[in-house]
Amino acid sequence: MASQEIERLTGALARLPGLGPRSARRAVLWLVKRRDSALPQLVEALAEVGERLVECSTCGNVDTTDPCGICADAKRDSRSLCVVEDVADLWALDRARLFTGRYHVLGGKLSALDGVGPEDLNIASLMQRVGQGGIDEIVLAMNATLEGQTTAHYIAERLEGKPVRITQLAHGLPVGGELDYLDEGTLAQALRARRPMA
Ligand code: ZN
Repeated sequence: MASQEIERLTGALARLPGLGPRSARRAVLWLVKRRDSALPQLVEALAEVGERLVECSTCGNVDTTDPCGICADAKRDSRSLCVVEDVADLWALDRARLFTGRYHVLGGKLSALDGVGPEDLNIASLMQRVGQGGIDEIVLAMNATLEGQTTAHYIAERLEGKPVRITQLAHGLPVGGELDYLDEGTLAQALRARRPMA
């Protein structure tokens, strides 16, 4: 029988995406064995994240500053805006280092099944950013899933008549593919070959 403390940590870790009870137990044992090295580093990193991370009020990215480093970076092309479902997608695209514009995080995707409608996503703030002018191109970088594509089409419709060029990632993306899982070369290729939204 593990102690209450170990059970508590295991339970907390098991709730993380991609981990289950079994992986969580392994992680806990791994940490216990490295009480003097890896554990303090993790504790420190977690505390720092808890204290310092904020959501960017412009784009929805997560960073230690608001506006985030990307929104505040004057070297970025403010005329090009890439719309993504989640922060993880933003990070994946940015790791590919091809897109030099700015981002807008929707915070999810439209889903009738999960009861997610347009008002649950950061679409109003997107329309507001576009309405302020100064944006030439909107890259819709949704996942190549049914819900991702439904979301992309919905946003393209909402943008109709606005003076912006709407493009989407080329579908060298595997069907059902989530951006976060793609290697950087594939992502860069999809971005480079982006095409006008039909
Ligand atoms: Zn930002």
